Amino acid sequence: MGQNAGVVIVGAGLGGIRVAEAVRTAGYDGPVTLIGAEAHPPYDRPPLSKGVLAGKQERPDLKPENFFADSSIDLRTGRTVVSVDPSAHTLIVAEAGDPERTETVAYGKLVLATGLTPRTFPGVDGGLSGLHTLRTIDEALALRAEIDGARSAVVIGAGFIGCEVAATIREHGVPVTLVEPAPTPLAAALGEQIGALVTRLHVGNDVDVRAGVGVTEIVGGGAGPDAKVTAVRLDDGTELPADIVVVGIGSIPVVDFLDGSGIALAEPSAGGGIACDGSGKTSDEDVYAVGDVANWLDDEGNPKRVEHWNHVVEQASVVAAAITGGEPVRGAVPYFWSDQFDVKIQVLGEPRVDDDVHIVDDDGKKFLAYYSRGGILTAVVGAGKVAAVMKTRPKLMTETPISELI
Ligand SMILES: Cc1cc2nc3c(=O)[nH]c(=O)nc-3n(C[C@H](O)[C@H](O)[C@H](O)COP(=O)(O)OP(=O)(O)OC[C@H]3O[C@@H](n4cnc5c(N)ncnc54)[C@H](O)[C@@H]3O)c2cc1C
Repeated sequence: MGQNAGVVIVGAGLGGIRVAEAVRTAGYDGPVTLIGAEAHPPYDRPPLSKGVLAGKQERPDLKPENFFADSSIDLRTGRTVVSVDPSAHTLIVAEAGDPERTETVAYGKLVLATGLTPRTFPGVDGGLSGLHTLRTIDEALALRAEIDGARSAVVIGAGFIGCEVAATIREHGVPVTLVEPAPTPLAAALGEQIGALVTRLHVGNDVDVRAGVGVTEIVGGGAGPDAKVTAVRLDDGTELPADIVVVGIGSIPVVDFLDGSGIALAEPSAGGGIACDGSGKTSDEDVYAVGDVANWLDDEGNPKRVEHWNHVVEQASVVAAAITGGEPVRGAVPYFWSDQFDVKIQVLGEPRVDDDVHIVDDDGKKFLAYYSRGGILTAVVGAGKVAAVMKTRPKLMTETPISELI
């Protein structure tokens, strides 16, 4: 590795812990330091909008408490990396709660796994109780605490997280309105045809879906510490009363700590985040990036940033292999899932909104659809169709004409 300072990983989430674990599994015996801004050890995020929000699950830790000592991984929580100096191979780390208290940490190889921060509603940066975003366990618990006793909730944005939050709150018995400016929920990810089936799922479970309409204002009442959301105003003039408002309008890569470092960022038009080659190396020889913040070149050489669990795990394996000289475990077919009401929506492959969509099975609730481009199968999307989705995997590993399937 050329230096004695070992592997330092910034961001103690899924990507960070997976890299730490994988370098140890590969036999690397130098120092491994995992620095995380949150007060918690690494935990899993998918349950935050599902079991944790439903009150059925506590913090879903990714590792048992003794893992870090047993694996000689120096986990430093409550510490924020505020700057990186690649020429000196050092970082400045500040204590959460006391940003004046800083220390300098040296690295041999640096891995950046800082994830995302939720986009806030324009003009509203917090300060209203009842107003929520969802990325962390603390945010999930704060939202969960307000669901009991709420009379109505509005979820702004019907992407995966917005849809899951709407479903979980509705299952708690609270009336929910899901507002989305696109023609259907999930239109940006899966297109409008499948979006219409997701609308049906939510409407069938008594969610009031308002698609094709934007939000002009989050209305608050009271002043100072008593300020609270009271309603959401839509661009068609409707005012929806709400004592909970969840903003799920996407997230932004956490890259501010790289200001002045010279480490290249990807263009916002290409997804933003930290620019990497196809194995996670940044513009600096000794610095890698993984997970939601990382924008890797895909097999065609195009920049691509992905915000799904499986993708993070695969990237962590590739980066650990690049650092230790080992063999990465690469998944053959991209995969992600979303749980909404009692249905698991699964996506295998790489659907694009301009693909042709072929719905081959639909019983009014569960469905299966193939996506194709130029006559070739590109993806399969299923709701409540686990076995049928997984059976398609081999067909997505080769160029399969869609005519073989429909
Ligand atoms: C509510 C929710 C539900 C989800 N559900 C699904 C699902 O059903 N299916 C699916 O495929 N994917 C899902 N995902 C996506 C999946 O969880 C993410 O892709 C994954 O967590 C990303 O991991 P990461 O390590 O890149 O980032 P993160 O898990 O966000 O970890 C980044 C960590 O870095 C820390 N950090 C940031 N800046 C600094 C700094 N300067 N110094 C130190 N630490 C820093 C952050 O505090 C954070 O703890 C969900 C995500 C959320 C939020």
